This record gives sequence, structure tokens and C-alpha cells, in this order.
Amino acid sequence: MSETVPKTIAVCSFCGAQKTPDTPLIAGNEGMICESCVHLAHQVVANWSHKKKSASMITSLKTPVEIKQHLDQYVIGQDTAKETLAVAVYNHYLRLLNQGSTNECLQETDSTELEKSNVIMAGPSGTGKTLLVKSLAKVIGVPIVIADATTLTQAGYVGDDVDTVLQRLLEAAEGDVLSAEWGIVYIDEIDKLARTGTHLASVRDVSGEGVQQALLKMVEGAQVKLSKGDKRRGGEEAVLDTTNILFVVGGAFPGLEGIVDKRLSPQNSELGFLASSNEEAAPSSHDSVYSRFLPEDFQQFGIIPEFIGRFPVITFLEELDEAALMSILQEPKNALVKQYRQLFHYQGIDLTFTDAALRRIAKLAMDRGTGARGLRGIMESVLRKTMFELPSTQGIAQCIVDEQTVNDAAELIVSQILGVEGVDANPADAEKDSDAPEEGGDDGLYTAGHGH
Ligand code: ADP
Repeated sequence: MSETVPKTIAVCSFCGAQKTPDTPLIAGNEGMICESCVHLAHQVVANWSHKKKSASMITSLKTPVEIKQHLDQYVIGQDTAKETLAVAVYNHYLRLLNQGSTNECLQETDSTELEKSNVIMAGPSGTGKTLLVKSLAKVIGVPIVIADATTLTQAGYVGDDVDTVLQRLLEAAEGDVLSAEWGIVYIDEIDKLARTGTHLASVRDVSGEGVQQALLKMVEGAQVKLSKGDKRRGGEEAVLDTTNILFVVGGAFPGLEGIVDKRLSPQNSELGFLASSNEEAAPSSHDSVYSRFLPEDFQQFGIIPEFIGRFPVITFLEELDEAALMSILQEPKNALVKQYRQLFHYQGIDLTFTDAALRRIAKLAMDRGTGARGLRGIMESVLRKTMFELPSTQGIAQCIVDEQTVNDAAELIVSQILGVEGVDANPADAEKDSDAPEEGGDDGLYTAGHGH
């Protein structure tokens, strides 16, 4: 029996589907088309306008040097990470802007499919990973979503599944699917997605690997159905193609240096009698360890190899030292010192910090071990009493925070817990620290935290 469709039966000229009551066909002059081919054609055409629109969305792609200069305004230090990210992001958008380019001289090159440069950032908490990605999205002018891997669950489990992240990206793009498809997804704490039993730090249940698989699908490129606007109010459905989204994942990866060291000296770590020679080895510096690092080392954290394979760009952030923390307090565009000065300025007060006070704040942040993340909390507690009292104190023109203030504030936190009242006034220090202006209450000078 022949399989050929008799000429009398109408078929879709694109896919060959036969006309049936369930598959109606639209007839044209010369041929016919079925519903699914209409949808497909629509998507293809939408992509054409997408390309045009996205190209206009990124009007001028900044060079890696320009991108880094922009990052420098917000992020202190981390030069290697800045350069790596600047190159990855530049290449990513260069590829997208030239996708399907029809330059005849470049025919050969055009057929070469360039792979995405998704990025893994490893570095201690509070060293600027999230800040870097946020600042990157700002300089390129694309929407961004920041998610925490620990809150993600496999589809079907209670919690946010991976699609929720894309839903939030679409919201960040104000419902514009085309701009969301060129966005950036940053997933933090990726090292906590270990599959069971691989690493001691793993506290996740079995779904850790499931989430990695779900993320992997998204990273590889998937069509995800989302709703534009509020579903309950009958928001429209939209299909988001994740192929061109740039994925960046970050994590602290605690003990990574040890893992690299162990791989490099496997016998020493296994054989007790060689332990002494291991001890003699020079302690691994940040640079030397990371220059010997291999992507497979991430497997020790339970990251599956397929996942690692999709993130070809790997960069490391350094622990912030006292000097870096002091710069973070003062230098970035929205540095904390600048923010508080502004706040006090609104009240007609000139707020200054002595160098010693800033050093003390930096030191306290280092002791907390949360990188620059702790700075804000320390500043708040240092200035809490001052910010409480100043608005109702007349005639203050200048406020100085010195080292003593910072130390007292640390005591204040303790005394609050004990239910003891504040700290003693010590106006003498204030005079040591600055030239008090003539005008204002007593002398118009207030030394934060010392009382007045
Ligand atoms: P991570 O993602 O590495 O845990 P974040 O980027 O969230 O850290 O940093 C927390 C906060 O600390 C930031 O919002 C920023 O204010 C500050 N910060 C951290 N690192 C830096 C840095 N290198 N330069 C400037 N500010 C920083």
C-alpha cells in the first residue's frame, strides 16, 4: 500500500500536515498553512523585529575598557573580576547584535555559532558580586533579576521554581518580552545547590540537583510560558525564549582553596606519613591557588558537570581588606559616608568622619566577616543615637564622628541588650578632633555618640 497522500487531500504546504476536522488549513493562492505553522511563522517574524528592536535598545555597545571604567565608579577593587565580566558581557552583546548578520564577506564566520559566555563568580560574601552584576546591567541598559539559589525549588515543590525567576525578569523589563530576552539573570549562593552528600556544607535536600537541572534547561535555551501582568486579573500569556539571556551565578564556595590544594597534592593528603612535607609547603596565596584552579573543582560542591560546562567564564573575587573597606565607605558614587553626609546636610549639619573612625568601622566589619555587607549596620549603630537626638537639638552646625564614637557605639549595642542606658558624654574629644565653627548652640559642634 502506498504512503503517498492523494492529490485531492489538502495538506499544509509548510509541514505537510493533512487537513482534518481538528487541523483546519488556511488556503492561499498557491498553498495552504496549518495553525502550528502560523504560530511558528509568527515567532520567526517576531524575532526579526526583536533583532531590530534589541539593536536599538543597546544603541552603542560600550567597549570592555569603558564598561570597566563604569564599574570602577561603583565597585572598589576586584579588578580581575571587573575585566573578566566586562569582556564576557561585551562579547555576549556583540554576538547578539550581530546574530544572523548577512555580510557576504563574512559568510564563513557567520555560520560559526558563537556560544554564550555565562559566568561563575566565586568569592566570599559581601565582596561585591551582586553589586558588580547590578552595575553591569545598568551600564549595558538591560533588565536584570537577582535570585537566591537557596529559595529555588524544583517545579512541583513548595517554593519558587525556576520559572518564577523569569517571571521577575519580565516584570523588571516592564512586561516587554523582547527586552527581557536580552536581560541578565544573576543567581546567588549557587554553591548551596549541592547534590546530596557531596560536600559537608550542603544543607539542601534532594531537590538541589533538580534545581540545577531546571536551571540548566533555562541556560541552554527554553521557551517558557509566563504571564504578562497579574494572572488573577487575566494578564496575557507570553512566551519567553531564554536562549539569549546572560546567566551569571555566584557563590562563596567556602574551602575552594583547600580543594585545589588537595587535588594538587593528592598523595600528601591521603598518606599520613607524608603529612609533614605537606605542612612545609608554602601556604597558598589567593592568586596562586586560583591560577591552578580547574572548573572540575566546583564538582566538589555538588555542582553537576553539565552545569559547569555551561558556564565557561569563571572569575574570583578577593576578600576585602581594611584599606578596601575604608575606600568603600568613602569612594563609590553612593558611598555610605556620602549618603549619611547628604542626610545630615538636609538638616543643615555638616557630618564628618575622622580617618581613625573610618578605620575602626572597617576593622569592625572585618571582624564580623561579612565583607562590606556589615558596613551599613555598623554605621547605623554608630549614628543611631545621634540621628535620634539631632533633629530635636537646636544650633548644631557640625557633627564629627571620631574613633571614640565608634567604640562607644559598639558598647551601645551591648548596653541595649542589657537594658542599660546610653554612654557618657565626652565633649573633650570633639574639640581635639576638629575646629568647631563659631555659630550654633554652645559651639555648634556635636560629636556623634558622645552625647551633648
Ligand atoms: P556579595 O554578592 O558578594 O555577597 P554584595 O555585592 O551584595 O556582596 O555586597 C553587599 C554590599 O556591600 C553592596 O551593596 C555594597 O554596598 C557593598 N560592597 C561589597 N563589595 C563592594 C566593593 N568591592 N566595592 C564597593 N562596595 C562593595
